[in-house]
Amino acid sequence: MQRLNDVHELRRWREQVRREECLVGFVPTMGALHAGHASLLERSSRECERTLLSIFVNPLQFNDPQDFARYPQTLEADLEIAARTGVDAVFLGRRDDLYPAGFQSFVEPRGCALPLEGEHRQGHFAGVATIVLKLLSLAQADRAYFGEKDWQQLQVVRALVLDFHLECEIVPCATLRESDGLALSSRNTRLDPAARRNALAISRALGAAARAYAGGARDRARLEAEMQRVLSQTRSVEVEYAVVADAQTLEPWAGPPRAPRALIAARVGGVRLIDNAALDEPPVGPLEL
Ligand code: AMP
Repeated sequence: MQRLNDVHELRRWREQVRREECLVGFVPTMGALHAGHASLLERSSRECERTLLSIFVNPLQFNDPQDFARYPQTLEADLEIAARTGVDAVFLGRRDDLYPAGFQSFVEPRGCALPLEGEHRQGHFAGVATIVLKLLSLAQADRAYFGEKDWQQLQVVRALVLDFHLECEIVPCATLRESDGLALSSRNTRLDPAARRNALAISRALGAAARAYAGGARDRARLEAEMQRVLSQTRSVEVEYAVVADAQTLEPWAGPPRAPRALIAARVGGVRLIDNAALDEPPVGPLEL
């Protein structure tokens, strides 16, 4: 596995792989890798001849400086996971390399980037879209793998690729969960045991909405009330939003035939968590609980 320490080394690696005419898969991350990231890397390794992983905690997408300062960094463990999942090259992003002095161009996504996370985390998606555009331009990958765990981000990235005519296929990957339902997240390591238990309210609420939908409920207010009911059973969960949105536009769901997506953001024990689920697909795995 090759370590690429700057943009220049990444470009050189890409040129060499182009000469070999290999299909390249790309998995951008902020490190602190867990089994969710590993599932993306394994899928890329299975489907592509070369897999590129990037690790960069992008300061631009953090609206909360505390959250940025506390973001876990576990480089040695990350490199082990990368080696185990068949990664060929890992790009280790550096702030002074990706945002050198004088950096002045930013992407400002609209549409599906405006509601929900867009409202609650000012500037977040501008940071995401800017770094994703930079990384996709550098990686020149055939495919890039993104998790459905960050559903709204996935829609923002899809729009970005369309709007800027990028020649990269965006591959959505299912959310990996703990056996009790909690979606894997790098931020979970910051949950103390009580918060870890309380955080289950989120996946339970999504499961309740999915069951109500499967039982015939098609009224958005009723589905959202069902999520609120479950969330309010755990007092220490501070809900930022718990909504049923149009899966593509992220605007309030207007009913069939548009696809409904239930999305929740909540603070548990000082840690902000997000999760989501499709309502029109049978709930699988731990969400059945
Ligand atoms: P992050 O390092 O949090 O920016 O995540 C990097 C990629 O991994 C993003 O595309 C995430 O959506 C994806 N990801 C994060 N958690 C999970 C999970 N539990 N299951 C599947 N993909 C995930």
